[in-house]
Amino acid sequence: MSTNEILDELIELLGAHAVSVGDEINPDDLHDESLHPRHTMPLAVVHPSTTNDVVAVVRWASEHGIPVTPRGSGTGLSGGATPVPGGVVVAMHRMNSLLRLDPADHVAVVQPGMTLRELGEILEPTGLRYPVYPGELSGSLGGNVNTNAGGMRAVRHGVTRHHVLGLEVVLIDGTVVRTGGPVVKVSSGYDLTQLIIGSEGTLGIVTEITLKLSPALPHAATVLVPFATLDEVTTVVPSIISEGLAPSILEYLDVLTMASVTQAAQLELGVDAGVAEKTLAYLVIVLETRTAEQLDADLIALAEHVTEHGALDVYVLPPHAATQLIEARERAFWVAKAAGAHDIIDIVVPRSRVPRFLERANALAAQYETFLVGCGHVGDGNIHLSIYQPDETRRADLLHELFRTGVEMGGAVSGEHGIGLDKQKDFLALADPVSLDLQRAIKRAFDPHHLLNPYRLLDERPMP
Ligand SMILES: Cc1cc2nc3c(=O)[nH]c(=O)nc-3n(C[C@H](O)[C@H](O)[C@H](O)COP(=O)(O)OP(=O)(O)OC[C@H]3O[C@@H](n4cnc5c(N)ncnc54)[C@H](O)[C@@H]3O)c2cc1C
Repeated sequence: MSTNEILDELIELLGAHAVSVGDEINPDDLHDESLHPRHTMPLAVVHPSTTNDVVAVVRWASEHGIPVTPRGSGTGLSGGATPVPGGVVVAMHRMNSLLRLDPADHVAVVQPGMTLRELGEILEPTGLRYPVYPGELSGSLGGNVNTNAGGMRAVRHGVTRHHVLGLEVVLIDGTVVRTGGPVVKVSSGYDLTQLIIGSEGTLGIVTEITLKLSPALPHAATVLVPFATLDEVTTVVPSIISEGLAPSILEYLDVLTMASVTQAAQLELGVDAGVAEKTLAYLVIVLETRTAEQLDADLIALAEHVTEHGALDVYVLPPHAATQLIEARERAFWVAKAAGAHDIIDIVVPRSRVPRFLERANALAAQYETFLVGCGHVGDGNIHLSIYQPDETRRADLLHELFRTGVEMGGAVSGEHGIGLDKQKDFLALADPVSLDLQRAIKRAFDPHHLLNPYRLLDERPMP
C-alpha cells in the first residue's frame, strides 16, 4: 500500500476534520518544552474526540506498523511527546470533558485532554480541589498521569499517582482496559492503574481518568524566610516537617533564582535591604488550615522554629504578593530558558540528604567549570538545577556525575519530569539491571512490536 492510500484509510476512519498532514500540522504539535527539541516530522497528527476514535487510530497504526506518540498539551520537559518520523501523533486536546463529578465520594471522572486549569475552574465553586499542582496549568491530566507529575504541593499531598483511582486505557491492539475505580482502596490483583501512571505513553493511550479530590482548606498564609547559607535552608527543611506543621508548599530558591524570577515578574517582596545583603537562599512556605486560629498558632510555631535554625527574618506575605511569588516561582523554568540555560534537571534524593547533594553538586560544577543555579521542591528532596555549560561533552559528563550522585544517595534521575528522550542514556546506565529487565518484559506484554512511543524510556534504539 502507498503512503497516500494508508493516509486515506486513516481519514476515512476518523474524518478529515480529525487528521492533519503536511502543512496542515500545527508546528506546536511537533515538540514539547524540552530544551533539546528534535524537529521530527510525523506522517500525521490526529485529533480524536472519543475513545472509539483512539481505538480506530491505534488499530490502523498496528496494522501498518506505524509508531504512535500520545500527546497531551506538550508542556513536558523531557521530549516524551516528540513525534517519530513517519509515525502518528495522537493529540488528546479535544477529549477534555468532565464526565462525572461525585461530591459525596470526592471523585471526578475526566477525559485526558482536560487541563489542570480547566479542572481547577470546574472545582472552584464545589469546595473540593484536585491538590496536585505541577507549575504549568496548561498541562493535561493525561500528560500528568503519564509523567506522574508532582509539583509544589507534593510535600503535603503527594504526586499524581496518589490521586488517581482508575483509568480507561486503549492498548496497542485496540483493546480497551478499565483499571481501578471510584473507590479509595482495592486489594484485588495487580495494580494496573499504578503501572500505567508514569509510563510516558509507552504502555497505552489513557482515555479516561478517575481522580480523587480533597476538600479545599479555607485559611492559608505564605511565609518567606531568608537564610545566610544554602546549607541552613536545606538542613531546616526536614525539621519543619518533623514539627508536624504539614506545609502544603516548601520550596527553596537560591538567591540568583529568586532575583531573576522576582525581577521577571517585577515583584517587590519587601525584604529589608540589610537582610537581603546577607541572604544566600530563601525558603517559601505555605501553610493551609481549616481554622484561622490554627493558622495563627502554626505561623507562630513556624517562625520560632526557623529562627532557632538560623533564619535571618520571617516575612508573612500579604495575599496578593503571596500569589505573585508562587506564580513567579512557577515561571522559574521560562526565566532559566530565557537566560540561556543548556539543561534543567530534576534529580530527587531523600530530603535529609539535600544538603550533601547540593554540596557535591557545587563541587562538581566547579570541577567542570559550569555555572549552576537552583530551586526546587525541597520538601520532597526534588532539586531543579539549571545548568549553563555550552560544551556538550563536558555537560554530558557533569550531568552523568550529578545523576550518579543522586542515585547513590537513594534517589532517582527524575523526580517528576520523566525520562523521555533527554535522560534516557543516564537512566538506563544507572538503573538496577534486574528492574530494567522486568520493565522490558512488561513493555513486551503491552506492546510487543514497540509501536507505542518508541525510542524513549526503555527503548535504546536511536530515533530514525
Ligand atoms: C513552566 C513549566 C513548569 C513545570 N512545572 C512542573 C512541576 O512543577 N512538576 C511537574 O511534575 N512537571 C512540571 N512541568 C512539566 C509538565 O508540565 C508535566 O510533565 C506535565 O505532566 C506534562 O503534561 P502534558 O499534557 O503537557 O504532556 P505532554 O508533554 O504532552 O506529554 C508528556 C508525556 O505523557 C504522554 N502522554 C500525554 N498524554 C497521554 C495520554 N492521554 N495517554 C498516554 N500517554 C500520554 C506523552 O506521550 C509524553 O510521554 C512543567 C513544565 C513547564 C513548561
